[in-house]
Amino acid sequence: MKRIALLGSTGSIGTQALEVVSAHPGLFEVEVLSAHSNAALLIEQAKKYKPNAVVITDESKYREVKDALMMHPVKVFAGPSSLTEVVQWESVDMVLGAILGFAGLKSIIAAISAGKRIALANKETLVVAGEMVMKLARERGVPVLPVDSEHSAIFQCLVGEDLRTIEKVILTASGGPFLGRKPNYLVNVKSSHALQHPIWSMGAKISIDSATLMNKGLEMIEAKWLFGLENEQIDVTIHAQSIIHSMVQFTDGSMKAQMGLPDMKLPIQYALAFPQRLTNTFKRVDFKDYPKLTFEAPDYKTFRNLAIAKDAMYRGGNAPCVLNAANEMVVDAFLHNKVGFLEMSDMIEKTLEKVPFVAQPTLPDFERTDAEARTYAAEFIKKSQLSIY
Ligand code: NDP
Ligand code: MG
Repeated sequence: MKRIALLGSTGSIGTQALEVVSAHPGLFEVEVLSAHSNAALLIEQAKKYKPNAVVITDESKYREVKDALMMHPVKVFAGPSSLTEVVQWESVDMVLGAILGFAGLKSIIAAISAGKRIALANKETLVVAGEMVMKLARERGVPVLPVDSEHSAIFQCLVGEDLRTIEKVILTASGGPFLGRKPNYLVNVKSSHALQHPIWSMGAKISIDSATLMNKGLEMIEAKWLFGLENEQIDVTIHAQSIIHSMVQFTDGSMKAQMGLPDMKLPIQYALAFPQRLTNTFKRVDFKDYPKLTFEAPDYKTFRNLAIAKDAMYRGGNAPCVLNAANEMVVDAFLHNKVGFLEMSDMIEKTLEKVPFVAQPTLPDFERTDAEARTYAAEFIKKSQLSIY
C-alpha cells in the first residue's frame, strides 16, 4: 500500500489521479490532498477519500474548508508553507506533484529532501530548477517518475536500457488546435478558441501552452534534466494523432516508441505503480481507427515560443526560469483576453532580454528571477494593444 500526498488534487491531473487511485483500492491510499482555492471540490474529495490532511494554499478559504470538515477526522491546513511541511510526514510514501506552475517547486524540493518518491506532473519544476532538483534526487536516492505523457513514454522505452546508449529522444507534439495555421490567422484568435484542444482535455494553462507550442519547449527542458541529455539529443516532431507519445533512438540506430490512446490516466497510473504495470480496463488503441500515423517538422517561425524555449534551454542558468515566469504571466493575460496570441512570444522574448543572467542559480536566485520576470512581463502586458482598449 502506497500512501500518497496528492498536491493539486482539484486540477485536471489531480482529479484523474484520484480516478486511478479509486480503481486500485488495495494499492494506494490518499494521505494528503491539496488545492489552491477550489474549496468546494477539496471538501468533496476529502469526504470521499478520507485523507489524513488537506491543504488549501489560498488562506482566505481556510475557514470554509475547516468548518465543512469539522465533523470529519481530517486535519486542515492553509498556506503554501503547509505544503512543504505535510509532504515530509513519516506517513507519506509518495508525492504526486500536480500543482500548476512555479508554485509547485518548493513542495517538490521539500519532498525530495525528505526522501519521498516523486511522481511529477508539474513540468515547470524541472524547467525552472531541473538541474538542482535532479541532483538532489540523486543524492537522496529518490526516483522522480514522469507523469507527463511524452516523458512517461521515454521512461517506458528506457526500462532495461543503458542510458549511455541513448542517441536522441524525439518528443511528439499533437500540434494543438492551430496546427498548420499562419500568423495572419493567429493574430486574431481568442482564448476560447485556443482552449479547444483537438485531442487532449487538460487544464487551461497547459491547453494554451499546447496551442502556442510552448508546452513542447517546456517539455524539451523537462526531458533534458529528467534523462540527463545534452541539448542536441532532444528533437521534436509533430504527430497529429497523438498515438505515439514519444520515441528514443539508440546508438545502434534502433528506435523504440511508446503508444497508447491519449489519456493521462495511463501515465499517471504508470508513475504511481512503477515498477509494477497494473491491469486496467481503459480503452485500447485499435489501429483500424488510425490507418495513418503522420510526422512533420514543427513550424518554428510561426510558433515562435518553441524556438524561444529551445534557445532558453541552450542558454541555461536562470533563462528557463525567466521563460517560465513570463509565460505563466502572458498565458494568464491571454486567458483573460488582455494580450493577443502572437504578442505572447514578443513579451516572453522581451522579458528574457531584461532579467539579468545568472549562470549557477540557487533557490533564492530562482525566487528572485521569477519575481523579477513577472514584474517585467506585467509591464509589457499593461502596454498591450488589448489592455489599452
Ligand atoms: P489545473 O489548472 O487543472 O490544476 C492545477 C492544480 O494546482 C489545482 O489543484 C489548483 O488548485 C492547484 N494550484 C493552482 N495554483 C496553485 C498555487 N499557486 N498553489 C498551490 N496550488 C495551486 O492544471 P493541470 O492539472 O492541467 O496541470 C497541473 C500540472 O501538470 C501542470 O504543471 C501541467 O503542466 C502538468 N501536466 C498536465 C497535463 C494535463 O493533461 N492536464 C499533462 C501533462 C502535464 P485549484 O483547483 O484550487 O485552483
Ligand atoms: Mg506532455
